[in-house]
Amino acid sequence: MIKLEKISKFYQVGDEQVTALQDISFPIEKGKLTIILGPSGSGKSTLLNILGGMDQSTAGKFLFEGENVTQFDDHQLTDYRRKVVGFVSQFYNLVPSLTALENVAIAARLTANDHRAEEYLAKVGLKQRLNNFPSQMSGGEMQRVSIARALSKKPEMLLCDEPTGALDTKTSLRIMKILQEVAKTSKTAVIVVTHNPSFERYGDCIVRLRDGRVESIKRNPVPSEIG
Ligand code: ADP
Ligand code: ADP
Repeated sequence: MIKLEKISKFYQVGDEQVTALQDISFPIEKGKLTIILGPSGSGKSTLLNILGGMDQSTAGKFLFEGENVTQFDDHQLTDYRRKVVGFVSQFYNLVPSLTALENVAIAARLTANDHRAEEYLAKVGLKQRLNNFPSQMSGGEMQRVSIARALSKKPEMLLCDEPTGALDTKTSLRIMKILQEVAKTSKTAVIVVTHNPSFERYGDCIVRLRDGRVESIKRNPVPSEIG
């Protein structure tokens, strides 16, 4: 079980205390797509960093499969990031001098001719692009490579920070569809942070943040299918 219990994060700025998150509580389900929505400054990045083991909360508990991540030391956190978390951002972060296949293989510490790298790219519909370099791919294709790369680590949790931030609407929907499928077919907890409210209908669970607090939590018993 993955669960946030009254997570708060405060920053001391001069003699002022800034509240980035206050009493955030919600469960995160494996095999489901959770969408975190909120305007700029609502605490989305702070929350994602805590979930990804990049940052610790000031108060509250973050429980991951029976372990209290809140109490992890740096060594345990590094281990957690490497073994548990996959990360996708709007910037793809592909190595320009490597092909799609090599970008995935290297991340998973596989050799380029290991068929598993190919399988992950096939999963995101890129079987025809294995030997393309990033400069020979569209934004949507590069994002799919970065999703394949994240999946090759077999993460228990896939964190996506504005994954469609640099993409047009049609391509964005394709990416959301892939993320829906990833959640459904692997047992991964997929978490998408976005400020785009039109994606709401595609998530299993939608958490709205405002001013560092949970404004609402909604569950879609049957999320809309894309395409
Ligand atoms: P979002 O990702 O939704 O834009 P953030 O998590 O980046 O929101 O920020 C939430 C709040 O916390 C904002 O008011 C922001 O200014 C503040 N904040 C975030 N990081 C820091 C920091 N390192 N120091 C001080 N304040 C911060
Ligand atoms: P490594 O030591 O293997 O290079 P890190 O310990 O730096 O990796 O990061 C581990 C994982 O955390 C990687 O999959 C990386 O993509 C992911 N990650 C990077 N940035 C963030 C972030 N802001 N929030 C959550 N996870 C992140």
